[in-house]
Amino acid sequence: MFETLSDRLTTVFSSLRGKGRLSEEDINTTAREIRVALLEADVALPVVREFIARVKERARGAEVSKALNPAQQVIKIVHEELIEVLGGETRTIRFAKTPPTVIMLAGLQGAGKTTLAGKLAKWLADQRNTPLLVAADLQRPNAVTQLQVLGERANVAVYAPEPGNGVGDPVEVARSSIDYARRNNYNVVIIDTAGRLGIDEEMMQQAADIRDAVSPDEILFVVDAMIGQDAVTTAQAFLEGVGYDAVALTKLDGDARGGAALSIRHLTGRPIMFASTGEKLEDFDLFHPDRMASRILDMGDVLTLIEQAQRTFEEEEVAKMASTLASDEDFTLEDFLEQMMMIRKLGPIGKLLQMMPGMGQMREQIENIDERELDRVAAIIRSMTPEERANPKIINGSRRLRIAKGSGTQVSDVSGLVTRFFEAQKMLRQLKQGGLPGMPGMPGF
Ligand code: GDP
Repeated sequence: MFETLSDRLTTVFSSLRGKGRLSEEDINTTAREIRVALLEADVALPVVREFIARVKERARGAEVSKALNPAQQVIKIVHEELIEVLGGETRTIRFAKTPPTVIMLAGLQGAGKTTLAGKLAKWLADQRNTPLLVAADLQRPNAVTQLQVLGERANVAVYAPEPGNGVGDPVEVARSSIDYARRNNYNVVIIDTAGRLGIDEEMMQQAADIRDAVSPDEILFVVDAMIGQDAVTTAQAFLEGVGYDAVALTKLDGDARGGAALSIRHLTGRPIMFASTGEKLEDFDLFHPDRMASRILDMGDVLTLIEQAQRTFEEEEVAKMASTLASDEDFTLEDFLEQMMMIRKLGPIGKLLQMMPGMGQMREQIENIDERELDRVAAIIRSMTPEERANPKIINGSRRLRIAKGSGTQVSDVSGLVTRFFEAQKMLRQLKQGGLPGMPGMPGF
């Protein structure tokens, strides 16, 4: 997501690098380039205009700073303005004082509503809620089955009309689900409603009828980010037709430009609450404007990375990794192997690395990283004796040959790994002694 915009902005900023002071002309040129980048990313024109005006105004008024050079100052301004346009604060579900909290989903067919219902249910259940999924999309023949399958995968209960028994009235299904939830102690009800391929009056009316029947605590408008500028048009139509409290953006994984995300909040006044980034149940999270802005500027999304690690690893493992990194003892090949195996557990290496600062420009290489390379490295370390792992300096020519044979690799692979390890060890030592120059600042500057 946001690759196009991210690449363009990186280019804009790199031309500022090395400037001692920004002239009026520098500011104008930069503003013009950012404007083009945003328009190419499909951001709506009124949003672009306002954004550029603010950046220019702030860049002109920026104080001379000892800590930041002019390029960094512009990045800081753009970063803050991006956070603002993405909605500022992270917004989460407002729970009702008396359960159940009722969440209603609305949006076009194919927006990803049903999938999102399943993801949201799992996300809520992971936080010790007891959600109930309600199939009030009776328009699409297999929507009910789809929700039941998702419910099973997410391990969440589904409320659906019995086949042949009063099928056909989604308003009634929605209404009765609330009583059912109350009687059976479900604390959140998620209502999936019908969508159409295009906006039509009947669909809006049905959604409005369901809304009136259940008085939702939150109405979420679900919209496919890949439809670009149309997302904004649809968002405005639903705002008038049904009204909603927040937006859930889906298919952000497929949207290289990001226009919808950057326009919707500004044009509808409604915050983006959730972001969906894939077809799996786990590809879903709260939308954090600050983290998203950092990602767009290729400053990395280290917080999400850490959270993901915490979800994946046992606490002990995380604590152990932290203590290895903090201890005075030298980092050994044993630690190296352990950490590599941990990273492997986190999932596809490419997705992971893209969240690290400064990695945006290496995207192509990252996508080509061979996961088997990791296995090869692990095999080499495993072919070493404990003594060799603790003290790789003793690995001489004959040991290299033995290790290469044992791991089914070449001697040059073993030498390469040992050299890389020494570099990592050295870097870590420097880090412990007070940090590398420029860290944790803005990458590339
Ligand atoms: P609904 O008609 O609004 O209920 O839409 P569905 O939930 O049936 O989703 C439509 C299609 O989009 C399905 O094939 C989903 O697997 C896919 N989909 C949903 N969310 C995402 C997402 O975040 N990323 C990607 N790549 N596909 C998604």
